[in-house]
Amino acid sequence: MTLRVGQGFDVHRFSEDPSRRLVLGGVVVEGAEGLAGHSDGDALAHALCDALLGAAGLGDLGQHFPDTDPRYAGADSTLLLAEVVALVAGAGYEVLNADCTVVAERPRLATFVPGMVEALSAILDAPVSVKATRGEGLGAIGRAEGIACFAVVLVERE
Ligand code: MG
Repeated sequence: MTLRVGQGFDVHRFSEDPSRRLVLGGVVVEGAEGLAGHSDGDALAHALCDALLGAAGLGDLGQHFPDTDPRYAGADSTLLLAEVVALVAGAGYEVLNADCTVVAERPRLATFVPGMVEALSAILDAPVSVKATRGEGLGAIGRAEGIACFAVVLVERE
């Protein structure tokens, strides 16, 4: 049995387009400013994708889903995440668990976290933890210019 760990990070700035929705971990955060991005801007799903790809030695999200590809314009990032999970499984790895942190000055995410946990755990078919924290006014994230997400995953190959 081989255990491998992977980590992922992503940051997106808030969009100036008022019609963009905030999507994090597959959950629409109603009433919040959306994040800019080629896809739906789900930085949490993207961080998790990179963690999974890293653990399996399969490169990174941009290699598999280029942000210059019109197919991924406005893409639902949970579908990209499901594709990444399939790639990781195809490489012989089973996901054991994932742990994620969302750093957001606003909005308050606590009430949305259980939905993210449920959505992401279902896609990974493994326990996923999501924690939300603030930037304490420090730096770009602290000035609420965007949202940053971190993810760590553990995978196993028999
Ligand atoms: Mg991203």
